[in-house]
Amino acid sequence: MLIKNGQLRGDEVIAEFERLTRDAAAVQRETLRRILSENADVEYLRGRGLDGRTDPDSFRSCVPLVTHEDLEPYIGRIADGNTSSPLLTAKLVTSISLSSGTTQGKRKFLPFNDELFKSAMLVYRTSFAFRNRAFPVEDGKTLQFVYASKDFTTQGGLTATTATTHLYRSKEFKPTTGDVQLQPTSPNEVVFGPDFDESLYCHLLCGIRFNNQVQTVSATFAHNLVLAFQAFERLWPELCEDIRRGAPSPARVATPAVRQAVEALLRAPNPALADEVARTCAGVKLSNWQGLIPTLLPNAKYVHTIVTGSMEHYVKKLRHYAGGLPLVAADYGASEGMIAPNVEPDVPPEAATFAVLPTSAYFEFIPLKLGDGNPVRSDECYSEAQPIGLTDVAVGEYYEVVMTTFTGLYRYRLGDMVMVTGFYNSTPKLKFVCRRNLMLSINIDKNGEQDIQLAVDGAVKNLVTKKLEVVDYTSYADMSSDPGHYVVFWELNNEANDAVLQSCCDELDRGFADAGYMGSRKTHAIGPLELRVLHKGTFQKVLRHYLSLGFPPNQFKLPRCISRSNFKALRILSGNTVKVFFSTAYN
Ligand code: AMP
Repeated sequence: MLIKNGQLRGDEVIAEFERLTRDAAAVQRETLRRILSENADVEYLRGRGLDGRTDPDSFRSCVPLVTHEDLEPYIGRIADGNTSSPLLTAKLVTSISLSSGTTQGKRKFLPFNDELFKSAMLVYRTSFAFRNRAFPVEDGKTLQFVYASKDFTTQGGLTATTATTHLYRSKEFKPTTGDVQLQPTSPNEVVFGPDFDESLYCHLLCGIRFNNQVQTVSATFAHNLVLAFQAFERLWPELCEDIRRGAPSPARVATPAVRQAVEALLRAPNPALADEVARTCAGVKLSNWQGLIPTLLPNAKYVHTIVTGSMEHYVKKLRHYAGGLPLVAADYGASEGMIAPNVEPDVPPEAATFAVLPTSAYFEFIPLKLGDGNPVRSDECYSEAQPIGLTDVAVGEYYEVVMTTFTGLYRYRLGDMVMVTGFYNSTPKLKFVCRRNLMLSINIDKNGEQDIQLAVDGAVKNLVTKKLEVVDYTSYADMSSDPGHYVVFWELNNEANDAVLQSCCDELDRGFADAGYMGSRKTHAIGPLELRVLHKGTFQKVLRHYLSLGFPPNQFKLPRCISRSNFKALRILSGNTVKVFFSTAYN
């Protein structure tokens, strides 16, 4: 059964996923039994009355639902080494993961251990096997725009860094099954380099060096792929010069270890490749870089990255770069643990769903519904809603995900809203909807990331014929005016005339279709929506601001709604506003 590197072949990985999802309820009961019996004596579970019981009913009646805040004191003690006996897990916590924090403005500390690593690998391998079946690749290279984050040692001696950085440290973390092996084009020194721009430049250089061998192009989040190819548009003459010379330019690549590693890889001057790439660029530039990826990397089979949730906005731009190459939605997971692989890679990003892997955690789902059938987006429903099991969810319904993990999170509310679109065997397929705490809200209105995206998509239609596009956007609920109103910040690729922008502003206002918003707008309990058009490059400044605070470039997700307490980001946005429009939609 096992071939090459002791790993399962792709068809065996798929067969294993089929087996685990055939009776997902039984697999979930066994997963819970394992978690509870392994950890029966930890401080957190002792005294809760479980008395050795590991069944779902006893678990739910003895252990409360919690948020990260509730577990913070325990995780803090683990990080500080303040533990005479096991607190959350019997097994050693080997390191701490730091969440990206870009959605909540605060980085969470989370336990990381071998079990989490194993389940993450299983999710990645599963989706890789399914991708290979749909879009077969050959042994070769993968161009991955990934960036490890800095780490530090906690008081208790644990390494703390992002979950993805923990994964990158492992030799096993490669898109690989027993029958197909992909090697990253960039050496580890680039992934672990100290400077984001330097690493991005080197990823491009290494990608070009192996242009004919690259089978896939990927990044954790779509945003990073768009950034990379936008950088390519600007930097290709320099990149070609470096290839011609056989060494990276000192102005772009200054860190000695990174330089050395990239130089060793470029090996020798390569004027033929430099000329080929320069010719390619001159051609693609004429069509506004449409199809850049397949032209530059002729053997690439697909582009793979997270394109759902707040990343959906980048799909259009990515499609432009990808030409006819498939865009495959990457899996659903979090620093808390991986949740669900994408096992239907040929489904377009807008419809992508994720089939829950029932061994990665014990899952519960809090139903989110109002009497009129609308999903509840505010927090007040939590106490009433009774969580249900993985296989009890219903198609078309909205839920918040609750996880019990091998890393000691018990009945932990993840804060993500998902919708069930169907079942894969007996495990649910989830569509990611939004983060529950990222809401635009003035009074009774509630609009999440997806609602904001829909409103922007609707308004953008006014721009299409004018060859304008929204490079990026965010929003803010301004309560300083009376009544309060929504502010939407847009950065455009080119200048637009005022009449067009005014109609976009009106369209945005009409685009928020929830009853609370429309009702309040009609009665003027919410003021006219304000559209602020930003200087070109403003969102780069916002990104730099987050990076300067230590937020990880690899997991950065621009919040689609900026909270009032995020003064600095709001100051950057306001300071770079060039035009302001107020909606006339409900006059
Ligand atoms: P973090 O642990 O902070 O890096 O981010 C985890 C969060 O990213 C999840 O809780 C989701 O809100 C979001 N996320 C992860 N995977 C996806 C995905 N495939 N689609 C949309 N959002 C995702």
